Amino acid sequence: MRTLREHGALSRAQLAVRSGLSKATVSSLVSDLELRGLVHSAGISAGGQGRPGQLVALRPTSVSGVGLDVHVGHVGAAVTDLAGDIVFRRRFVCDVPALGPERTIDHLAELATAALAEVDGLVGPPVGVTVSVPGLVDTSAGTVTLAPRLRWRDVAVADELAARTGLPLDLISVDNDANLGAMAEQAAMNGESGDPVTDLVYLTGDFGIGGGVISGGRLVRGSIGFAGEIGHMGMDPLGPYCSCGRRGCWETRVGLGALLHACADPDDPVRDPTLDLDQRMRMVRARAAQRDQRTLDALHQIGSALGVGVSILVNLLNPAVVVLGGYFAALPEWLVEPIRNQVVAGVLAPGAGGARVVGSRLGFTASTTGGALAALRRVLDDPTVVPLNQPEDEEAPA
Ligand SMILES: [Zn+2]
Repeated sequence: MRTLREHGALSRAQLAVRSGLSKATVSSLVSDLELRGLVHSAGISAGGQGRPGQLVALRPTSVSGVGLDVHVGHVGAAVTDLAGDIVFRRRFVCDVPALGPERTIDHLAELATAALAEVDGLVGPPVGVTVSVPGLVDTSAGTVTLAPRLRWRDVAVADELAARTGLPLDLISVDNDANLGAMAEQAAMNGESGDPVTDLVYLTGDFGIGGGVISGGRLVRGSIGFAGEIGHMGMDPLGPYCSCGRRGCWETRVGLGALLHACADPDDPVRDPTLDLDQRMRMVRARAAQRDQRTLDALHQIGSALGVGVSILVNLLNPAVVVLGGYFAALPEWLVEPIRNQVVAGVLAPGAGGARVVGSRLGFTASTTGGALAALRRVLDDPTVVPLNQPEDEEAPA
């Protein structure tokens, strides 16, 4: 299934070559996947080498993956089909720290229920639901251990969501937003070019700053899953207080709060938490494009402070690419250059070890998309989670 997802429709002979499996094994696996409704015939291969053969392709509408997102300023949902294409996306603006976990999970459950109702008939049932949270997550228990920006501690997100939606608990998983964002960015980049990206650092650009690290093709989780909390790298022992209680953490310098504080007064709509973040970032973009000096100074200050931290990450990890997510992704024209200047000055390896710094194309949607893709992994890892003899809805009477 992974081979079909990467290469599109293939004949059984081509699948055997690409997977290294025997033709007999491929035929048997394809028959099994057909009975589960996960693949279907897709015509006859034309020309090329060898004899023409019946093509097999993933059946995108067979199942779906659901990504849910808890953010400081909103809850969100995205649903993808088996091909990873988005079929539903929605965001509900709310003040999550003020609402508290109970009411936030109420909203999240409503959003999940609405999403599943809306895609019913377009795509098959979900094979998984992944909730993205900006904080430390115990993925085995489906709980949030600590999320300072949300003011959450020991919240049983998977249990609470299952109770409210009626979804089976084993379908629901919880993960860190930066880890999911890194997976989504890697998938998007791999889709664009032939060479897979194996070494990537993804930065969430939010009130808090998280890091998702993919090294040697694998997500780095650390010994008990808490790796990547780069927003709390101590940069200045006398600096401003952070949501975690310490002083001078990197995110106090480069988080969304630092930008908003530097570029606008408290009564400015840019700082209005009831407005959607994308809308507020468009205002900042417009001011920078009109060369508003206060905005340009703020962006230069953020970019330089970002570059100091990115240099540390590049010295440590030698990534091929550093992806700027979240609010950074709305402003790469003004952030990338000061970051690059700091990285060139601060990295020992010549040419910064080849590291590129780029803005994300996914912005604030990376973690929900990553959640939906992570949910699909359940069926890619083990197609038997989908029962045999699923009805072929394509052949059902109208
Ligand atoms: Zn901190």
